[in-house]
Amino acid sequence: MPVITTPGLVLRRADYSDYDRMVTIFSPEMGRLDAIARGCRRPKSPLVNAVEPFTSGEFQLYQHKERFSLEQCQISDSYFELRGDYDRLRHGVYWLRLLDTAILPDTPAPELFITTLRALAHLNYGELPPELVTFAFEAHFMRLMGLSPRMDTCMLCGRPVDGNARFDPDLGGAVCLCCHSPAPEMSNGARRILMKLPRTQFDKFQLLNDRPEWPEAARLLRSCVNLRMHMEKFAPPLWDGDKP
Ligand SMILES: [Zn+2]
Repeated sequence: MPVITTPGLVLRRADYSDYDRMVTIFSPEMGRLDAIARGCRRPKSPLVNAVEPFTSGEFQLYQHKERFSLEQCQISDSYFELRGDYDRLRHGVYWLRLLDTAILPDTPAPELFITTLRALAHLNYGELPPELVTFAFEAHFMRLMGLSPRMDTCMLCGRPVDGNARFDPDLGGAVCLCCHSPAPEMSNGARRILMKLPRTQFDKFQLLNDRPEWPEAARLLRSCVNLRMHMEKFAPPLWDGDKP
């Protein structure tokens, strides 16, 4: 049987028969891998910690035709702090659901993989509000899915947009103030954040913490994510503005 070794992140698990589980692993080079972890529910199984969502590490699998079985895992991070913090956990669970919906078998996504691990490190170890980390994750996720809203051109008349505008998630971007539209208004600051954030190195999102427009930009982007990814039920609350 061919042996496959790949870095990975566990997105999901489901019980299967008495002692086994099915796990969904996100591999940067192979995309989505659904594998059976035999015996992992026995207390002494070496796989007992490897089959939990958020576990990242080096996974060794056997491939038999279309099926994979998980044999070993060298865990590099379990993002343990997340699991005891309901607020942060809710954000992380939402990301895993987005990935579970988007990642396809045999479809490499190395940049999305790296971005996810960086975002998880911020969520688990960082001090920034989880709403801000989720916003940055969504912005990069949407770009890598080819779904970033267009911010520099009016989606109705095609003219360049500069300054305040409107935001129309159905059209997928900005609408200038000269065009007639019922779409909500958007400040120039929020528009510029939505234009630049997805194209900026991931860790730079920390600088946004000092920008008063980021909650507005996050709310506008969320309307886009909901429309394209249908995650309304699982999306965590947006920044409520009351926290310090
Ligand atoms: Zn226009």
